[in-house]
Amino acid sequence: MNRKVDLHMHTNYSDGALSPFELIKRAKEAGLEIISITDHDGISALEDAMAYGKDLGVEVIPGLEISTDIEDKEVHLLGYFIDIHDDELIKYLRFFREERFHRARRIVRKLRNLGLNITLDDVVDQAKNSAIGRPHIALAMLELGLINSYYEAFDKYIADNGPAYEKKIHISPRSALKLIGDAGGLSFIAHPGYMKESILTYLIKSGIDGIEVVHPSHKDHQVRFYRGIVSQYCLLESGGSDFHGGKKGDDDNLGKYYIAPNKLIAMRKMLLRDSA
Ligand code: AMP
Ligand code: ZN
Ligand code: FE
Ligand code: FE
Repeated sequence: MNRKVDLHMHTNYSDGALSPFELIKRAKEAGLEIISITDHDGISALEDAMAYGKDLGVEVIPGLEISTDIEDKEVHLLGYFIDIHDDELIKYLRFFREERFHRARRIVRKLRNLGLNITLDDVVDQAKNSAIGRPHIALAMLELGLINSYYEAFDKYIADNGPAYEKKIHISPRSALKLIGDAGGLSFIAHPGYMKESILTYLIKSGIDGIEVVHPSHKDHQVRFYRGIVSQYCLLESGGSDFHGGKKGDDDNLGKYYIAPNKLIAMRKMLLRDSA
């Protein structure tokens, strides 16, 4: 039987629609036997998720998706098998969220100075459990009727050169690799289809453990291309649905984007070697 492994999905502890319990239930219904929950810049869902997974018979591998910056481009890295009690990781993630909150406050202040009636609470309501980003600010503005479309928020106010823009903290991919590695995890390039080849090369040189080969944004020829790179550089292969649920309209992706269990076995072997 072809056992399905999906190592990329989000709960409502980041920008997903479902609670950890609901997500695991849905994953099981979709025929997935092993999953990883990879919330953006957060690991709060994992402890409960692993317990629910045990109850429901779905193995949950602890994961996360870290936002990093290189050449002013956002680069997402996935970490798997991380120790969810690792002090440095917890400290960094807390710092990241706090910085994001302070930045949102500075943006809201600028918007108010421009005459817009928006409060920090409006934005926090949109972000729920996630670290606050500009999309939440745009959604809050839309809901308040301050703009007519989501994109108008960026075009008029919060795009990189907009009057209410504020810089965010930067973490380099190399620092993120170290965080993940020191927490006992393996690091992967998320959805490389979004990135320039020079950055891919840089990440490989920096010591990434693997590449997310299977992803809804990848066309068949890209899957073949990244699989070729994985084998050329002796890397690990990962993959998954990047499922968020809710308004994203990606319900069909769960159970459709997955990797074979032998990819996971290769990861476990690498972990054993690292710890030897
Ligand atoms: P942040 O990390 O808070 O700076 O937000 C970055 C996110 O904002 C990106 O992932 C995009 O989803 C969105 N974004 C940034 N610039 C634009 C833009 N000009 N138009 C639409 N969305 C944007
Ligand atoms: Zn997301
Ligand atoms: Fe991502
Ligand atoms: Fe993701």
